[in-house]
Amino acid sequence: MRSLSDVLLYAVPLAFVLLVYLRNRSKREYAHAQALKEAMQSGLTEPASLHPVVDPNACIGSGSCVKACPEHALGIINGKAQLVNPTVCIGHGACMSACPVEAMKLVFGTERRGVDIPYVKPNFESNVPGVFIAGELGGMGLIRKAAEQGRQAIDAIRAVAGRAPDLDVIIVGAGPAGIAAGLGALQHNLRYAVLEQEDSLGGTVYHYPRNKIAMTAPVTLPIIGKVKMGEISKEALLEFWQDVVRKSELEIRFQERMEGIERVSGGFLVKTTHHTLRTGAVLLAIGRRGTPRKLGVPGEEQSKVVYRLIDPEQYRGQHVLVVGGGDSALEAALALSGQPGVSVTLSYRGDAFGRVKEQNRSRLQQAEASGSVKVMLRSSVLGIASKKVALEHNGRPLEIRNDAVIVNAGGVLPTDLLKQIGITFETKFGTA
Ligand SMILES: Cc1cc2nc3c(=O)[nH]c(=O)nc-3n(C[C@H](O)[C@H](O)[C@H](O)COP(=O)(O)OP(=O)(O)OC[C@H]3O[C@@H](n4cnc5c(N)ncnc54)[C@H](O)[C@@H]3O)c2cc1C
Ligand code: SF4
Repeated sequence: MRSLSDVLLYAVPLAFVLLVYLRNRSKREYAHAQALKEAMQSGLTEPASLHPVVDPNACIGSGSCVKACPEHALGIINGKAQLVNPTVCIGHGACMSACPVEAMKLVFGTERRGVDIPYVKPNFESNVPGVFIAGELGGMGLIRKAAEQGRQAIDAIRAVAGRAPDLDVIIVGAGPAGIAAGLGALQHNLRYAVLEQEDSLGGTVYHYPRNKIAMTAPVTLPIIGKVKMGEISKEALLEFWQDVVRKSELEIRFQERMEGIERVSGGFLVKTTHHTLRTGAVLLAIGRRGTPRKLGVPGEEQSKVVYRLIDPEQYRGQHVLVVGGGDSALEAALALSGQPGVSVTLSYRGDAFGRVKEQNRSRLQQAEASGSVKVMLRSSVLGIASKKVALEHNGRPLEIRNDAVIVNAGGVLPTDLLKQIGITFETKFGTA
């Protein structure tokens, strides 16, 4: 009898602990399955570039990868790890390092969506001598990696500097890779120019959602030295870069886009939106967001047409047209709809908003029902005048009053332009 009571003394609490554990695990698995279902229903199934794939035979479902992922991209379903929120994966591989049985590997692209990765030598030179590539364009995303590659690429460029008559290097892009490269150019007294198409530095970081917490490992920057950031808000990270640029007096030519590169004897002619510059080497630190896709319609060159919503308040009391069918277009329309006196129209050429977050879709439905956003599916812009916009809607032409146009139609990578100067790309469909 005594031995039975002894057994019960241990068995009952153990059984209780096991029961709580199993219940919590099943709750978590249910939540992960729901997240995957929602991503699939919203068409958000393809990761942007580098992402993990799990070997189901090796995976023991420990959940270490799920805990390690700062973006909440992974979940455990039926005891195995899986990308349940593929589009938020940024490919930094924290999951892979955390996996105790090495069941994960990182790959580029998927079977359905190939990703073009340029050929880059270990010194960051492309297959075209004198054209270097650093940062996310080369395939590897992450603030630290981009910054380190920018610094290292300048070390390689130093070896060929001084031969060109004008500039030693043109650095295209002022994200982490471009800024670190610019600091390297300053440190080594290179004749340089940093071109940035936007009005601010930071690159992709500039476009993170407000207050997003970024995680970054220590990085060594030229002139500045070792920087330890750890977890840092988007705003603090941008302030850090701005401070670095101010103190170092790094010159960045904002709102100047690289539009062409031509090989000439002794270097390159780089065509920008404002000038043609001659240089011995070019460092492409342009990331993977590309240049905002344009509508290509008459009137688009007016200053009232922009490609990003910065401050919804500035549109108070105006008639605003938002063009696009992705999350950023919906988020822009919704943010504007909260402003007093704004009349918002959302124009999209598709039949439905197929690839957006469920939360945005339902918020838009509510806004449409309440009349705060007018949604025009199957519509396209024909032309933009100073006080109106001409559209085609369901095959019929019409005009609406307009004070501002915000185009959120994604970005275009200059792959063709780079192929024209001979840079070779490999399209990866789910390979390392
Ligand atoms: C939502 C999200 C969250 C992320 N979170 C993290 C995180 O927590 N930690 C982390 O380490 N990484 C994170 N990343 C990844 C990280 O932001 C990128 O890997 C990094 O910014 C890449 O740096 P880059 O300099 O190569 O390119 P980018 O930062 O993309 O900068 C490229 C710059 O080039 C400019 N440019 C492009 N074309 C031209 C042109 N033709 N002429 C002139 N200028 C041009 C662009 O305007 C841009 O400013 C995240 C990414 C995303 C999308
Ligand atoms: S690569 Fe990074 S973002 Fe993607 S699943 Fe792994 S830890 Fe998460």
